[in-house]
Amino acid sequence: MEPKDTTLNEAYKGFTNSNCPFLPCHQGIKREFNCLFCYCPLIAYECPGPYELYTDRNGLVRKNCTACTLPHDGYHASWNFIQKWLAKPVPWAGHPQTRRRR
Ligand code: SF4
Repeated sequence: MEPKDTTLNEAYKGFTNSNCPFLPCHQGIKREFNCLFCYCPLIAYECPGPYELYTDRNGLVRKNCTACTLPHDGYHASWNFIQKWLAKPVPWAGHPQTRRRR
């Protein structure tokens, strides 16, 4: 098996599950729909996505990521986005989104 930093095959960066009954689960995707990050790795970390807040049945404040396309828009772009934000993860403080979308 080739190490990721030497292979030219980028198939590991994403895929589209065209059989999923929820596809398209986010609107506004312009490139390939990447399902690899269906459960976003940044859900528990600070992120630049346009999330809203809601309170779940256990009283926990959580992110509603319905409007976010960042982990899904293009295999290459979404892979790079997730790698960048996981390089120095900062635990999410539970605050409303104040970042501008990148
Ligand atoms: S807002 Fe986007 S980047 Fe942030 S946790 Fe939700 S899906 Fe991930």
